Amino acid sequence: MVRPMVPEAEREIGVKHPVLGHGYIVLVDYMGNDAAIVQAARVSYGKGTKAVRDDRGLIRYLMRHRHTTPFEMVEFKFLVRLPIFVARQWIRHRMASVNEYSARYSVVPDEYEVPAAEEVRHQSTRNRQGRGDPLPGAVVEQFRADLERVSKDAYTSYSRALEAGVARETARLLLPVAYYTQWYWKSDLWNLFHFLSLRLDPHAQEEIRLYAAEMAKITRLVAPAAYEAFEDFSLESLSLSRAERVAVRALLDGKTPEAACTVAGLPLMRDDGKPMTSGEGVEFLEKLARIRTPG
Ligand SMILES: Cc1cc2nc3c(=O)[nH]c(=O)nc-3n(C[C@H](O)[C@H](O)[C@H](O)COP(=O)(O)OP(=O)(O)OC[C@H]3O[C@@H](n4cnc5c(N)ncnc54)[C@H](O)[C@@H]3O)c2cc1C
Repeated sequence: MVRPMVPEAEREIGVKHPVLGHGYIVLVDYMGNDAAIVQAARVSYGKGTKAVRDDRGLIRYLMRHRHTTPFEMVEFKFLVRLPIFVARQWIRHRMASVNEYSARYSVVPDEYEVPAAEEVRHQSTRNRQGRGDPLPGAVVEQFRADLERVSKDAYTSYSRALEAGVARETARLLLPVAYYTQWYWKSDLWNLFHFLSLRLDPHAQEEIRLYAAEMAKITRLVAPAAYEAFEDFSLESLSLSRAERVAVRALLDGKTPEAACTVAGLPLMRDDGKPMTSGEGVEFLEKLARIRTPG
């Protein structure tokens, strides 16, 4: 039996994709491809081998109908170098195997993340977890200078502690979350899609989105039909709540979006008469705007 191989993915193995100031992502290995998904599905359907066009159709069927286990037959192993503040978000994805660089065992290199000037922005007024409008140049430069100073001071203290004989596992407490760590991260394709759906989303922090974007390119190389189905039925799809279905029915009956929200009980106004900036009604209008946007 010949191991399934994807020539484009074979060429990717070991290639460093730079992300952020000192980070990167590398595809270390992969197992399986679109054919492995099809093969697993056909075991359960007992239909034998079919043409490539049918394979794509089957993969799309599996994705649409949430028959997820065939996608778990494909595996990816990445080596990732990333700032600790990104790692803290990433590690929340539990359905993966992770082996991290040990700062108990080894000395942490003097590498920390300083965001580009355009990435240092105002606290968003709409998304409490996000950034929004640009800041005055002086504020941006002060922040970046402070970050440089704090990081350099921290590393000087860390080095001094190590030289004085403090254990590496204790000395590392001096290092801020802008410092880098690295790990091997192994996941099956289904859970990788789940990771990508959350971390390519505009609500995810920009820094982790950059890593997700590189992973998405690699994923597409290994399993193009599955990735296409993921884009079509997950990433670029929209789901509707019960109330939103009512609102869409009202739209189809010729109501305006605002009137449809009223019919469906989707709130757009606060008790004090001011327009809401978040909530179910606003999110429904955002979905309509997304539908109107071509592409
Ligand atoms: C934009 C954004 C903002 C976030 N903000 C915060 C925040 O403020 N604070 C915070 O703590 N986290 C935050 N998170 C992390 C988030 O709550 C999830 O922990 C993270 O996205 C991982 O998702 P997951 O659990 O679905 O993935 P995984 O851990 O990979 O799990 C995949 C799936 O397996 C199942 N599963 C895994 N473990 C369990 C379990 N123990 N019990 C039941 N089902 C399980 C679930 O169906 C889950 O969806 C944020 C994430 C995003 C994307």
